[in-house]
Amino acid sequence: MDKKNILNNSIIIDSHLDLLFDLVRQRKYGRKKVLIEDYLEDFKKGGVNVIVSSIYLDGEFLPEMALRRALKQINSLYEEIEESKDSFALCLSYNDIINTINDGKIAILLSFEGVEPLYNDISLLNVFYKLGVRLVGLTWSRRNFAGDGCYFGTIKEGKKGGLTEFGVSLIEKAEELGMLIDVTHLNDEGFWDVIEYSNQPVIASHSNSRALVNIMRNLTDEQIKAIAKAGGIIGINCANILVSDETDSKANIKGYVDHIEHIANLVGHKYVGFGFDLCDKIMKYVAEEELKGISRKSFDSIKGYADIPNIIEEMQRRNFSQEQITDILGNNFMEIFKKVLK
Ligand SMILES: [Zn+2]
Repeated sequence: MDKKNILNNSIIIDSHLDLLFDLVRQRKYGRKKVLIEDYLEDFKKGGVNVIVSSIYLDGEFLPEMALRRALKQINSLYEEIEESKDSFALCLSYNDIINTINDGKIAILLSFEGVEPLYNDISLLNVFYKLGVRLVGLTWSRRNFAGDGCYFGTIKEGKKGGLTEFGVSLIEKAEELGMLIDVTHLNDEGFWDVIEYSNQPVIASHSNSRALVNIMRNLTDEQIKAIAKAGGIIGINCANILVSDETDSKANIKGYVDHIEHIANLVGHKYVGFGFDLCDKIMKYVAEEELKGISRKSFDSIKGYADIPNIIEEMQRRNFSQEQITDILGNNFMEIFKKVLK
């Protein structure tokens, strides 16, 4: 089957996009229908069916404004979807996703990228669940009440710890509610605590292989094996910093597929998917302070979702079967959504 056919006959999922980070700002400038005007064309070019949209807060809002900023971000998505009902729907369950795709719309799921909006109050998790959040990334690359994040580079800091008591309770509560735990951005100590305390599959929504690019944000082979053993999945990130070494010589589609191939060879193709983390659009909003320890200029290794057909082509060139490609494009994530989301 050619790449266009595969594109049109597969469910395609991106498990991480900082969409709300952009929407909330664009709407502040008075814009409306940002999803339609700035995103829809690219989603369509890549045949994208499902986007996991994260609630990410920059440091300036922490800690006092985290809750309000998160609610404002969620509201910006509610307003956008209301304005673009024919093209998008907020989904809460596997069946919601299937129905939305069958209606020819793009499904959006909400995730935490760090649980700062909860501060230290576990009861708020249920409130965010009711607002539609279904994936829980415990930390961003910083410390919060749940645990320690991992930085992008080397910074001067003291000893790190694993998950806190709050972090462990959060896993239990999230799994009870039917939310999916995301280990991306956690430090290694926290990662292994999640593996110990979780009883459901856990995902790394936007992390790559540390064997290929040695950076703390990426996962070691042992960590990849542990995620696969738990029935989870790794969404491959297209940020040059995670795809290629300092020379950026592999920050392209081939470099991106190298990470897919590494994981498929290590544990099997059922445990890998897309978590593009496309950031070129939003880098203009990111303060220097947020990029502590990164000595490199950050950019996307692919040219947006429109490059998905070329990723398919590269996987075909490496002898991935049509069935394997379809699994990686979205079926793998769908199986986990079916199993975990309530
Ligand atoms: Zn991230």
